[in-house]
Amino acid sequence: MKIHEYQGKEILRQFGVPTPRGSACFSVIDAVAAAQSLGGNAWVVKAQIHAGGRGKGGGVKVVRSLEEVRRAAQQILGMHLVTHQTGKDGQVVRRLLIEEGAVIAKEFYLGMVIDRSRQRVALLASSEGGMEIEEVAAHHPEKIHKLWIDPVEGLVATDAARVAKKIGIPDEAINEAVLILQGLYRAFVEKDAMLAEINPLVLTADNRVLALDAKFNFDSNALYRHPEVVAYRDLDEEDAAEIEASKFDLSYISLDGDIGCLVNGAGLAMATMDIIKLYGGSPANFLDVGGGASKEKVTEAFKLMLKNPNLKAILVNIFGGIMKCDVIAEGVVAAAREVHLAVPLVVRLEGTNVELGKKILAESGLPIISGSDMADAAQKVVVAAKENQ
Ligand code: GDP
Ligand code: MN
Repeated sequence: MKIHEYQGKEILRQFGVPTPRGSACFSVIDAVAAAQSLGGNAWVVKAQIHAGGRGKGGGVKVVRSLEEVRRAAQQILGMHLVTHQTGKDGQVVRRLLIEEGAVIAKEFYLGMVIDRSRQRVALLASSEGGMEIEEVAAHHPEKIHKLWIDPVEGLVATDAARVAKKIGIPDEAINEAVLILQGLYRAFVEKDAMLAEINPLVLTADNRVLALDAKFNFDSNALYRHPEVVAYRDLDEEDAAEIEASKFDLSYISLDGDIGCLVNGAGLAMATMDIIKLYGGSPANFLDVGGGASKEKVTEAFKLMLKNPNLKAILVNIFGGIMKCDVIAEGVVAAAREVHLAVPLVVRLEGTNVELGKKILAESGLPIISGSDMADAAQKVVVAAKENQ
């Protein structure tokens, strides 16, 4: 689960990481009032969306008068902010962060992720802050310093200081940088984060170190023990179909192709997407209905897929293990009737009661295309989707 920058900064401050002062606003009037109460003569008006690259997309403006705050807020609120992480339609900006402006001497990059192969949290740090870290990784990998943190010892001060020095934090600011690194690590572990990023971490003209941006992604399997993190959830930033799916306990991820996939089991769902690709098609979604899919669940799954305007065909690929093929077939038939299915439907069933399942499909009177095995079904659905363009 992702959160907004201003929320991430609230967390950082709880762990002793300094950030500029600021407040979140939902209207232009509030934005101007916030700038006024912050005081000073420079402010930053920042779009709050769950995507990076806002600066480049025009969602971050440094301004020098309250009139400019008003103009920038007016411009950014409600805009469709397009960044390299939003897709071409962009994301509508509904919240702003108004902050006191910082005088930046240098920008650094700090990030933490879980490195599963080493079973540790990896700290990534670079002198090349402010820009996309993917670019730095591609062109100057030597400029990214890595440290795998021992889970028992935690991030010890000497290691943190060494990393800070390597990326070019001046001696006068090393102690503060160590506290920031340790604070970020404690926040990461205590809040069950999967990713935490401060880009840029800045050195100010007076040698202070500040987190100018904050990005967190939390492990959704651990959210049950962090109600304070769940309270930060912003459904406006999440995919509507995925929210709907979570209500029915379906694992659904929207993709940009045109072939809907309804599968039981995550492994089979992945293999199904692969084989569609292999035969030249493109999946519209990942959808795992789980091991115990009821008729109701299958119907909800069909409704979800059909909300996608790009959908041109559906492939149902079920292996009846615990689940029986006849139950699934009944579910598919009922769902197809209820939603008045208008796109071609290819079904491949295998496993327990498969003959009975196939009989139910064949006798339903619905124009269901039967696939004899996975390859056959995938080829048929790719052809059906192409013919339905
Ligand atoms: P992102 O583009 O979504 O990662 O948004 P950031 O919060 O990282 O802001 C983008 C850039 O705006 C930063 O890298 C800075 O260069 C600039 N910026 C942000 N806050 C300030 C500020 O207080 N003063 C100045 N001068 N620049 C800022
Ligand atoms: Mn940033």
